Amino acid sequence: MLIKLLYPRGFCAGVYRATSALSAALNKYGAPVYVYHEIVHNKWVVDYFRQRGAAFVDSLDDVPDGAVTLFSAHGVSPQIERQAKEKNLRYIDASCPLVQKVHREAKRFVQQGYSVILIGHPRHDEVVGVQGEAPDRIFIVKSKESIDALPLTAQDKIAYITQTTLSVDESAAIIEYLKSRFPNIVGPTVKDVCYATQNRQNAVKTAANDFNHKNCAVKALIVGSANSSNSIRLKEIAVRQNIPAALIDSPADVDPNDFIGVDVVLLTAGASAHESVVQQVVEFFQSAFDAQVEETRICEENTVFPAPFMP
Ligand code: SF4
Repeated sequence: MLIKLLYPRGFCAGVYRATSALSAALNKYGAPVYVYHEIVHNKWVVDYFRQRGAAFVDSLDDVPDGAVTLFSAHGVSPQIERQAKEKNLRYIDASCPLVQKVHREAKRFVQQGYSVILIGHPRHDEVVGVQGEAPDRIFIVKSKESIDALPLTAQDKIAYITQTTLSVDESAAIIEYLKSRFPNIVGPTVKDVCYATQNRQNAVKTAANDFNHKNCAVKALIVGSANSSNSIRLKEIAVRQNIPAALIDSPADVDPNDFIGVDVVLLTAGASAHESVVQQVVEFFQSAFDAQVEETRICEENTVFPAPFMP
């Protein structure tokens, strides 16, 4: 068996920034540090920080006045920031700068008089936060059907923006459809689907394509949680190329019986998954199948974001 370890994989600059900020906050202030929503959508990471004293909440009503609180990498709406100020929270905004960019685009389009179509998953924390910039002017769509149901006409002044962790190919298809329905629609100058999402998707696409044409049994494993948007997209890309794929939180989710007779395992990790889990999965296959490991890199990643302000 060959483990084809794909790169780029795992932590992106936004997740590294958010998790480092939470670590620094726990060291500086001690437990508990309240975190609005999961710091990132990954069970291993959330469990790790819970053990260190992070208290995850889905409402700021559950945070005592004045407490140290961190906003997750997915960002928050202006209403949440206002509530944090009213409660005198000492808050650290660990929203990814690339999510903040989408907030700025939404605000700019609304100020210029546009109705804004936000392509994304309606209940995702990032999408909820961005829509909060102007709830009555920002419309969420995730499919052609939801575009057809919009209360907008081709004569309206319309702009579109997208969630950062969408499938590059699917969002391109939806944007094409938007342009056919609303010929005057305008979009952001720079693509919203972030570099990390694109790179991880390209790595899976390239590897899946390579092995599709070889006469061998291939499966893909994506280290990432079931609620991680960018991890789910990686699984979908492999499946679309006829490679059976699964999301796993740890080696405990791997049934060795499913890998008997498999020649190649494409192994990658979503942007919120920690490299130590990837290495545990590698060790599992080395011990269970005497697997060889080969890394394939489609590009290098050097993006680094400065740490957020600590109160
Ligand atoms: S996946 Fe992209 S947008 Fe999300 S935290 Fe990472 S770099 Fe930021």
